[in-house]
Amino acid sequence: APAETPQVVIDAHGLPYLDAKLPVRKRVADLLSRMSLEEKAGQMTQAERGAVGEGGDVAAYGLGSLLSGGGSTPTPNTPEAWAKMIDGFQLRTRATRFQVPLIYGVDAVHGHNNLAGATIMPHNVGIGASRDPRLAYRTGAVTAAEVRATGIPWDFAPCLCVSRDERWGRSYESFGEDPALVQSMETVIQGLQGRADGRDLSRNDKVLATAKHFVGDGGTAYGSSTTGTYTIDQGVTTVTRQQLQDIHLAPFETAVERGVGTVMPSYSSLDITGDGKGAVKMHARGDMINGELKGRMGFGGFVISDWNAIDQLPGDYATQVRTAVNAGVDMMMVPYSYRDFGRTLADEVKAGRISGKRVDDAVSRILTQKFRLGLFEHPYADTRGAAAIGSPAHRAVARRAAAESQVLLKNSGGLLPLRKSEKVYVAGSDADDLGNQTGGWTITWQGASGTHTKGTTILQGMRDAGGNVTYSKDASAPTDGYDAGVVVVGETPYAEGVGDVGNGHSLQLSAADRAAVDKVCAAMKCAVLVVSGRPQLVGDRLAGIDALVASWLPGTEGEGVADVLYGSRPFTGQLPVSWPRSESQLPVNVGDAAYDPQFPYGWGLTTLTHVPKGGAATLRALRLAAAVAERAGAGRTGREIVREARLIVQRKAGERMTEGVAKPFAEADHLLLTGRYGEAVRKLEQAYGAA
Ligand code: BGC
Repeated sequence: APAETPQVVIDAHGLPYLDAKLPVRKRVADLLSRMSLEEKAGQMTQAERGAVGEGGDVAAYGLGSLLSGGGSTPTPNTPEAWAKMIDGFQLRTRATRFQVPLIYGVDAVHGHNNLAGATIMPHNVGIGASRDPRLAYRTGAVTAAEVRATGIPWDFAPCLCVSRDERWGRSYESFGEDPALVQSMETVIQGLQGRADGRDLSRNDKVLATAKHFVGDGGTAYGSSTTGTYTIDQGVTTVTRQQLQDIHLAPFETAVERGVGTVMPSYSSLDITGDGKGAVKMHARGDMINGELKGRMGFGGFVISDWNAIDQLPGDYATQVRTAVNAGVDMMMVPYSYRDFGRTLADEVKAGRISGKRVDDAVSRILTQKFRLGLFEHPYADTRGAAAIGSPAHRAVARRAAAESQVLLKNSGGLLPLRKSEKVYVAGSDADDLGNQTGGWTITWQGASGTHTKGTTILQGMRDAGGNVTYSKDASAPTDGYDAGVVVVGETPYAEGVGDVGNGHSLQLSAADRAAVDKVCAAMKCAVLVVSGRPQLVGDRLAGIDALVASWLPGTEGEGVADVLYGSRPFTGQLPVSWPRSESQLPVNVGDAAYDPQFPYGWGLTTLTHVPKGGAATLRALRLAAAVAERAGAGRTGREIVREARLIVQRKAGERMTEGVAKPFAEADHLLLTGRYGEAVRKLEQAYGAA
């Protein structure tokens, strides 16, 4: 605890709510019964940390929460500085009547992305590509450990958006376009929070999670806004009641079942066909927040608004406050207007326009999570876990995640994996750029190109793997004599507001990237890696590319990408979103009536470079793969494939497959061999009833 002596206004010692042996329910009821309306309003208020200066207003306004959000003032750059800053604010709460600890929140959406040197995971789109719920869990656990060790108990993640149109600049925050895929990745909530009943939250390696953005954030329509600019972020989602349930609500049901502690409504509006309400901002939709979320789903945590979101509601400020609170928002993210909010809220209650019961419900929900997090017993940072931040063990999880997220879209002639003896020419704007491969929400809100934190680039990973590599960013003078070229192209970082197509970004590769691809692919066999938050349009260029990989935004561990390029791990990723042919085809989603993307949802080839000798599980997997490949019409009978599989196991045990054998597998088993082989076999057996 900080050295400064806390100034205690009254001695709360001995009051029931401070008794850790009492059930949380009783502690909440006791504390609530003592609080004034103003103190309750304070608990419902979240301010931006830079706005409260040294923190005097924390006590003056009895603030319940502070945040460092995307749009916040710069964040500390060491674990110690984080802990010291938050402890300093926490100390201010000691000067309030009941010393209710504040709860500090950040967006740690792919690792502790607010801290240089932390472990950065692939963005969610890549985690979705892995199809590995256990991996999602582990990334959550690493994130929670690193975040809590800097004194932060609350993470505004995961985004459960089901992205239906890649023109949306937040697509990469989504696990994918299929709600079932999103649901399967919600193991991340247990990674972050621990057990669903909340009893792990007081651990020094767990954080409170936030399911966001409720509901329909990924379904907004692309189009012209009233201001004339193209928009999709924060737009309008128009759906039937059934679509709303099946696509957008379902992931939140799973989150509630998994005990998620908080939910954040979406900036977007929802227009339910035929309900007569028209397009209504989510922060005003009591039918959804009170009705669906808290009512039907039985969500018992608290609802935190999005940043300044009430400002977007119709009416004057009092109306905006009343609308959101009465719709079910429990805590308001009012970064700079926290003084007005608390006062207005109290006035509305006094005027009878917000009920005292509603306020008590909101405050009970907030206090419940604070008690569960153990903040009353341990308000200050427990930094004992700080040594693990960016540690080899944590980076190993991120490296594995990077490897599992890679999707092999095309692999003519079995170009991938590369052999270490092969002479490889590496080029392109994203081959050696840590900032580009980590994307938005990294160190800063929008992210940035270049080296802003610790990690390995893809190029560095290839070198570390022992590859025989020559590099030229702009592919200048690729003289011949190379066995293969690897061109790494894609996007530069962006986050919300900025990344929408039409708003300075497009799905087209840059002119420099196109030139690099064309140059290298004309000169030698080439693999193109696309480092991006969403599919990039490859179009007819595909014909001239031998191997194509969707790398997504793999995070700080470029070595994970090198692992699959050099075959120390097989490619096992599958597309989490459909890969379009053109922009005019958008939106394109699996299940559409006329579904004709360049690569379908779920597509992904695999590279089985090492078949374990006599490995029964592998043989079974191959047999099942063959059966399904046959159904899918991959051009070869299952019998042929199995025969070859047996041959390869007998003849080339432990060695690299010959091109002739690798190719049919690469084309045949894409539907199947995901994750661990054992798991794949089990899934196959379930799916196809084969044995
Ligand atoms: C984003 C949220 C985020 C919040 C705090 C908002 O602009 O929409 O996802 O949690 O800012 O940074």
